[in-house]
Amino acid sequence: MDLVVRAARAVTGQGAEGPATIGVDGGRIVAVEPGLADLPGDTVLELGEDEVLLPGLVDTHVHVNDPGRAEWEGFETATRAAAAGGVTTIVDMPLNSLPPTVDAAALEVKRKAAGGRVHVDVGFWGGAIPGNTGDLRELHDAGVFGFKCFLLHSGVDEFPPLDAAGLEGALRELATFDALMIVHAEDSHAIESAPDPHGEKYRDFLGSRPRGAENLAITHVIEAARRTGARAHVLHLSSSDALPLIASARAEGLPLSVETCPHYLSFTAEEIRDGATQFKCCPPIREAANRELLWQGLADGVIDTIVSDHSPCTPELKRFDTGDFGLAWGGISSLQLGLPAIWTQARQRGFSLADVVRWMAERPAAQVGMTRKGHLAVGYDADFCVFAPDEAFVVDVAKLKHRNPVSAYDQRPLAGVVRSTWLRGSRVTGDEPRGALLTRGNC
Ligand SMILES: [Zn+2]
Repeated sequence: MDLVVRAARAVTGQGAEGPATIGVDGGRIVAVEPGLADLPGDTVLELGEDEVLLPGLVDTHVHVNDPGRAEWEGFETATRAAAAGGVTTIVDMPLNSLPPTVDAAALEVKRKAAGGRVHVDVGFWGGAIPGNTGDLRELHDAGVFGFKCFLLHSGVDEFPPLDAAGLEGALRELATFDALMIVHAEDSHAIESAPDPHGEKYRDFLGSRPRGAENLAITHVIEAARRTGARAHVLHLSSSDALPLIASARAEGLPLSVETCPHYLSFTAEEIRDGATQFKCCPPIREAANRELLWQGLADGVIDTIVSDHSPCTPELKRFDTGDFGLAWGGISSLQLGLPAIWTQARQRGFSLADVVRWMAERPAAQVGMTRKGHLAVGYDADFCVFAPDEAFVVDVAKLKHRNPVSAYDQRPLAGVVRSTWLRGSRVTGDEPRGALLTRGNC
């Protein structure tokens, strides 16, 4: 075997954390022995007692913004940050890059931009916008993992939202080839009639993106999924009010999944200072009681996955000069920090690293149909995160690998340090890009 990893602590699946020895050959896991076994390997990696071997995390919600807005992030910086955070697979969102990934030609442009530049594995989402229903099949065949749509203005004019009829039409089309629709679920009419977001008061911004707008849009998604038979996924759930709606739809057997993000599980509206636009995201970070209900949703299994929604921008676009929440770009930069951010909160609530692996590796991989990612098991890619869960650090945004030094987590103390990250059996150093571009059904 090329590599043998001997770990006193490893999360090998099914809720277990224990000693394990992992054998790797040709980039795949070929042996998983319980306990510390003497497997022969060209290289033997002995982990410390303070380290836990995890499968590399799978983050299905990343805005790389390249090509077109690479000054916001870019493939090299995004994938170096991912690796530094223990993430070995990302799936890139179809918008904020130019052109948006709304047809096969645009996907080709993006794949060309990414080729030879990525330090972790990268897959791509397609986009569903008004007028491109006829392009969805070709994009699906070209290997995207599913399609994203908005139900209100996306923040960029070149990626317009679907109205109710547009959503239904796109879902009907996707149902014919069993593709997944992922939805930014806030209702445009509800947001339009909500109070104005402008000014530096976080309370006013929160009031401009009410829970009701999310709840209503999620109801529309559920009804449209029921009528069309398409698989649908609710992105970045913030409103805990929607949990019973989602649970009810699933109890009925609808193919509906839902994600939330580290920022909704970490921060509270009460603690966000006025003018602190690094916390602006849509839907917004809500009250402390809402945060606890989202954690309960994870415990209950209503929420499937935790993914970053890494949506960075340049410092100028956060408008720290005015602190105006209405003008600032909405998006939180966190790709490198998801694991320690979640572990910090999860451990306080009695969850285990096996829970975190389920939310951040196993289920995201399964949700997009990856059969070789997200588990420490024979036949899977040898993607590893070596994690020291009891080591603490304070986030220094200037030291992160993200392109721009802006993050809501700056100066936060977090628990858990990623000591090393391994992609298909080789340590990711950030020097030579060895990541692959993934296509659906082939990873
Ligand atoms: Zn997003």
